[in-house]
Amino acid sequence: MIDKVVVGDLDTNCWIIRAPGTNEAALIDPGAEPDRILQAVDGLDIRAIVLTHAHYDHVLAIPILTHQLKAPVLAHPAEKEVWQHELAHLEEHGHFDAGTATEDLLAVGRPPRATGQLWDGTVDRPLQDADTIAIGELEITVKHTPGHSPGSICLAIEGHLFTGDTLFPGGPGLTGAQWPLTSFEAIMRSIRGLLADTPDETQIHPGHGRDTTVGAERPHLREWATRGW
Ligand SMILES: [Zn+2]
Ligand SMILES: [Zn+2]
Repeated sequence: MIDKVVVGDLDTNCWIIRAPGTNEAALIDPGAEPDRILQAVDGLDIRAIVLTHAHYDHVLAIPILTHQLKAPVLAHPAEKEVWQHELAHLEEHGHFDAGTATEDLLAVGRPPRATGQLWDGTVDRPLQDADTIAIGELEITVKHTPGHSPGSICLAIEGHLFTGDTLFPGGPGLTGAQWPLTSFEAIMRSIRGLLADTPDETQIHPGHGRDTTVGAERPHLREWATRGW
């Protein structure tokens, strides 16, 4: 029922959530490599393309996928500013801002750039906290979790949380004074709220890297708040 394709420069997890007993599915964070994503969803009826946030590494495959799959794009409206910021950075520097990975990518001669058409920023359905997305019998609940970006969201189905770049094994996603539109205080508040009403056995599926569980991460909240990142 849950599948992923790892795509692009930053090994972004593009998640596929299929409703049980149907071929209806949602696609989360089509970050790059549209051909590989299309292969993975072959035979599925993609009802929604949902963005956890609009950093470049989560959105670059949107133009080809919306064209091929005829699926709507769903995101929090506060991400409009984030995508505009991504485009402004591209314009100014000739490549996207890949956070702490930028220098490594430049050093190996792989500046983070798009191949092909860029997303025009169109969101077909703006999402707010507590909204639900119906995929067949499956209900996906939206949790607004600002901090890594102002309109970052996590997506919950029973037993599973898709956390984008908000929460990883070992701590929160990237925030800090040098990263525009981020807030450490906000991300910690968001993560506390997110974990407060979620059982320990719930699986966490982040935007990059391996899965974890709520029970494995919850004991470290205070330690993250103290270290400040
Ligand atoms: Zn991000
Ligand atoms: Zn990311």
